[in-house]
Amino acid sequence: MTRVRFESATYDADRLKNAVGNLMALVPAGRIGTGTRVLLKPNLLLPAAPEKAVLTHPAVVRAVAELLVDAGAQVRFSDSPATGTFARIMKVGGYDQALKGLPVDCRPFKRSVARDIGDPYGRIEMARAALEADAVINLAKLKTHSQMVLTLGVKNLFGCIVGLTKPQWHLRSGVDRDVFANLLVQIHYAVAPVLTIVDGILAMEGEGPGKGGTPRTLGVIVGSTDAAAADLAICRILGFDPERLPTHRAAVRLGRNHGEPEIEGDFKTVTGFRFPEQTPVLFGPDFLKGTLRRHVIQRPVVDPLHCRTCGECWEICPADAVARDGEQVAFDYDRCIRCYCCVEVCPHGALSARTPMVGKILRGLGVLK
Ligand code: SF4
Ligand code: SF4
Repeated sequence: MTRVRFESATYDADRLKNAVGNLMALVPAGRIGTGTRVLLKPNLLLPAAPEKAVLTHPAVVRAVAELLVDAGAQVRFSDSPATGTFARIMKVGGYDQALKGLPVDCRPFKRSVARDIGDPYGRIEMARAALEADAVINLAKLKTHSQMVLTLGVKNLFGCIVGLTKPQWHLRSGVDRDVFANLLVQIHYAVAPVLTIVDGILAMEGEGPGKGGTPRTLGVIVGSTDAAAADLAICRILGFDPERLPTHRAAVRLGRNHGEPEIEGDFKTVTGFRFPEQTPVLFGPDFLKGTLRRHVIQRPVVDPLHCRTCGECWEICPADAVARDGEQVAFDYDRCIRCYCCVEVCPHGALSARTPMVGKILRGLGVLK
């Protein structure tokens, strides 16, 4: 049975270091010591201040890095942001300040190497630094996700796909969330972190994972040597049926789920956590699928009051389904694969995933699950 540990915590340095130390004690003996090259893989989605709850909090990164340095490890801190530069995220996200004075090598993933992640993908390009480190520590954020419901430990390692190849993987996976979830699980186990820590001290609910989400204090940080087990335990604390989490279903399909984890520490259930709206992306008989896709199923929508026509959404869209239309943003819902990369990267929180009125009525009637 895999252990998952919950620690009550705040971002206060001393209390946090103690909590993180208890999580790091889960790492198998001998995996980290003097000279071990450890890669810290945080969630650095885009430039965002810590109070937005978009990124792994810098205080968590500091606590982990301090403990590793104390243990004699060589520490590198890297990610491949979806938008914005690594340098800007280091500044805006508070990492420059948090890591000041610590011998931590901070730089973005640049080079990729191919690694076989299993059928049907075979060898795919992933960050060399993640694959060649002696040990990877996965530093995820607990937040909602318009496409995958929650982004937790398993999904965080999708950031090991370098640069703009990421949206292309969305396109290749198409509209089927389960296909994309398989890819995420396979990437995760190819990287095989020695420890996953999920920062839920200041989590995000609602329309995450970008700036459209709402920060919510849960006061908990979670650790496990197995990210799928940590994610399952987090579903339990949120009162969420893990069968509705695509990455959990994928872990089960791929034989990565080993039943209920052994939960220890400060496990307290959370009430009223707000999840993003979700409807199926494929629905109805073939001859109606086009119409349903346009008018019934969930889709990205823009709030014109917040949109500044900055172009991040059409830059990232892998399906060419969003474009500038004068001072507005226009979507082609026939082309849109509902990956919600646009929602994720919008720097102004102007996009969200919404179900059209007809879809809401059908869901109310039980026709649309
Ligand atoms: S919707 Fe967001 S990302 Fe797209 S142009 Fe407007 S502000 Fe930029
Ligand atoms: S419009 Fe948004 S949700 Fe649709 S395919 Fe493009 S990035 Fe994905």
